[in-house]
Amino acid sequence: MTLPKRVALGTMHGKAAAIAPPFAALGIALEVPAGLDTDQFGTFSGEVARAGTMEQAARAKAKAAVALTGLSVGVASEGAYGPHPVIPFLALGQEMLLWHDAATGREIVEVLRDDRPTYDQALVASVGEVEGFLARIAFPEVAVVVAGEGASRPLAKGLTEARGVERAVAEAIALSDSGRAMVTTDMRAHLNPRRMAVIGDLAAQLVARLARTCPACAAPGWGRLRVEAGLPCADCGTPTALPRTEILGCTACGAEAAQSFPAAPDWADPGQCPMCNP
Ligand SMILES: [Zn+2]
Ligand SMILES: [Zn+2]
Repeated sequence: MTLPKRVALGTMHGKAAAIAPPFAALGIALEVPAGLDTDQFGTFSGEVARAGTMEQAARAKAKAAVALTGLSVGVASEGAYGPHPVIPFLALGQEMLLWHDAATGREIVEVLRDDRPTYDQALVASVGEVEGFLARIAFPEVAVVVAGEGASRPLAKGLTEARGVERAVAEAIALSDSGRAMVTTDMRAHLNPRRMAVIGDLAAQLVARLARTCPACAAPGWGRLRVEAGLPCADCGTPTALPRTEILGCTACGAEAAQSFPAAPDWADPGQCPMCNP
């Protein structure tokens, strides 16, 4: 199996700028179909809820790109951002890039997590309060979304001028029952340089994987399939929820190989042990 010379990219927020260069280095050109409305698969600002998982959304976009271009392989990305599950006041981002071969059904998925995303929000009760928020998010390189508190649709998005933000905030405050407006970083890639850079890193990660061939069948795309937990407790040896093993594999022939999780220690801290620290 050889890699195609052209693949379809299911995106409409300028992600080709970040994804195309690593692919070009591997001799693969991206084709972005005109008229693909990826917002139908979900938006960050809430007008359209994402149906299903990140992987399902990325697959739907990749398949739509295949259908519109007639190419055999579609690539699409999907991101998720929210509060950090463990560390208060921090945000966490997760990006996924999915390669879908429509002829064989074969898929290759790479993920990358961002511990320092440009993702933030603030509830404000006056126009004056929005200044501090704009100062801490690298505005106007990062655009802003404004909504009334609790509103299901934003009043304005993609705002990159302070006056526009202030006008929208004043309007959202006037319209909302609570008298407060929610201002949020715009997470669309072309309006969030940090997100665009992370997507570029992820594209390089997928390209590096495509350059690795399967030791069993020589197909491109040898890489991580999943991570298994069970790092043993240093005191009692009980398996913990911490990662222990990385399963590498080939989604063309099903070959798999296990290796130690990269950078994992030999033993887990007893503080993480379900027996020593239940
Ligand atoms: Zn233990
Ligand atoms: Zn293989």
